[in-house]
Amino acid sequence: MRTGEEYIKTLNDGRTVLLDGQAVDNVAEHPAFRSVIRTIAELFDIAADPANGMQYHSEEIGGPANLVFSIPRSPEQLRSRRAAVERWAKHTHGWVGRSPDHVGTFFAAFAAHPEVFENPERDFAGNIRRYYERILREDLYVSYAIIPPQYSRATTASGWEGDFIQVGVVDETEEGLIVRGSQMLATGGAICDEVFVTCIKPLGPDDVDFALSFALPAATKGLKFLCRRPYAPETSSEFDYPLTTRYDEPDALVIFDDVLIPWDRVFIDRDTDALRRQFFDTGAHALGNWQAQTRLTTKLQFIAAVARKVTQVNGTDRIPGVQEKLGELAAIVSSVESALLAAEYTAEADSAGMLVPGKRPLYGAMGLQSETYPRAINILRDLAGGGVLQLPSGIADMKSPTTAADVERYIASPHVSSEDRIKLFRLVWDIIGSEFAGRHQQYELFYAGAPFVVKGVYTYRNYGYDAQVAELDEWLAGYSVDGRTGEED
Ligand SMILES: Cc1cc2nc3c(=O)[nH]c(=O)nc-3n(C[C@H](O)[C@H](O)[C@H](O)COP(=O)(O)OP(=O)(O)OC[C@H]3O[C@@H](n4cnc5c(N)ncnc54)[C@H](O)[C@@H]3O)c2cc1C
Repeated sequence: MRTGEEYIKTLNDGRTVLLDGQAVDNVAEHPAFRSVIRTIAELFDIAADPANGMQYHSEEIGGPANLVFSIPRSPEQLRSRRAAVERWAKHTHGWVGRSPDHVGTFFAAFAAHPEVFENPERDFAGNIRRYYERILREDLYVSYAIIPPQYSRATTASGWEGDFIQVGVVDETEEGLIVRGSQMLATGGAICDEVFVTCIKPLGPDDVDFALSFALPAATKGLKFLCRRPYAPETSSEFDYPLTTRYDEPDALVIFDDVLIPWDRVFIDRDTDALRRQFFDTGAHALGNWQAQTRLTTKLQFIAAVARKVTQVNGTDRIPGVQEKLGELAAIVSSVESALLAAEYTAEADSAGMLVPGKRPLYGAMGLQSETYPRAINILRDLAGGGVLQLPSGIADMKSPTTAADVERYIASPHVSSEDRIKLFRLVWDIIGSEFAGRHQQYELFYAGAPFVVKGVYTYRNYGYDAQVAELDEWLAGYSVDGRTGEED
């Protein structure tokens, strides 16, 4: 299987990554990207080592592949798939949202349901199968951009002034589709192998030119990644910013300057209904978000551990009020973890025999995520107090003869060295207060869609209200002003 070194070598491929008004020469060497690239490379090394139990025999390619890309066809396979996702998540403590297992999981479900992509004129179903086999064979790191750019939410793309703000078809040739426009927001786009582009927001009949699904190598002519400001290069040291310096995944608006999409890379061509079906009739949305909840659980466990340690260091952990806050944090983490396991327990095989995690617990936890994540962060913020600012300006203060003695004497705790205390509180700041931390708040609120979509569409529709209301109606029908049914006076 692919090693981290092999992944890094492929990145110097002429891709167009735009930062500070310039194209980046080689992302693998650029300070904005090199540290998170190293983290992704470590993930590949973990998977490549058989001792880590992340490999399985794939029927699709007749050989070994990474479990995080597998199609789960039994409860045991679903469990081992989760364990593999967890193995990767533990390495980043859940701070890399779009590691290769995220989009790879969507393709596993797509490939289990090639019929959803069937087209009378072209072999899109075959395209999806073959693409999935490439993911398995080559350990592909695919990112995605599946949301129209935030231009105006008052209408969909056809209503926007100016042609092709959202990526759409401008021409069709014998070789493929020519597309122009943009799509948000490819996390990992600048450092991945390939980008998957489609639209998960519902489109109307006038938007048909924008109803596409395709994948391209990051280094495709006319394809550009316009990156947000990176946080890692601004950091003073790994000690001061332990998360930013390892896990700063780039986010990018993806721009298409009349890009050719060869036919063998097209999965959906101008079909608004197929856009919905690819996510919801294949089980991809549930399986992909279950991967995301596995990662989130790991991250919340990490945050809870940090909070607990803060109270130990500050000597507040015997105070009942503090224990109550730690209890609330534990309740948040446990309920997300329980929903993850409940989704596994209630998974059902679909028409293709793929195990789809139970949607009620899955979307239940996701519906509350816009409250639970900020609440968890707020509890840590509360417990840390001003300790995150009663800190030296950087490691130089800890080493300089002018400041080291004061730092060592005053920024410490009983039985905790100055270095250990500063290390902990710098980590807390990278969780609650740095730019990286702010981006993560936004990420956890929006990565699966805006909260009004997650609650109002996914959670509401998948709860199973009809069955609950039917039970309620049956009970209500059992009595009236004349007494219980059958026992009337
Ligand atoms: C850090 C980060 C990383 C991301 N990574 C990716 C990625 O890798 N790939 C990808 O495809 N996308 C990614 N996204 C994009 C993400 O999918 C979108 O942010 C999300 O779908 C919400 O869309 P939006 O941001 O345009 O918000 P909008 O849809 O514009 O909504 C913003 C707010 O406006 C209000 N609002 C808008 N419309 C309505 C309405 N109809 N009813 C009620 N209220 C409304 C709500 O308050 C809502 O929260 C990422 C986002 C973030 C923040």
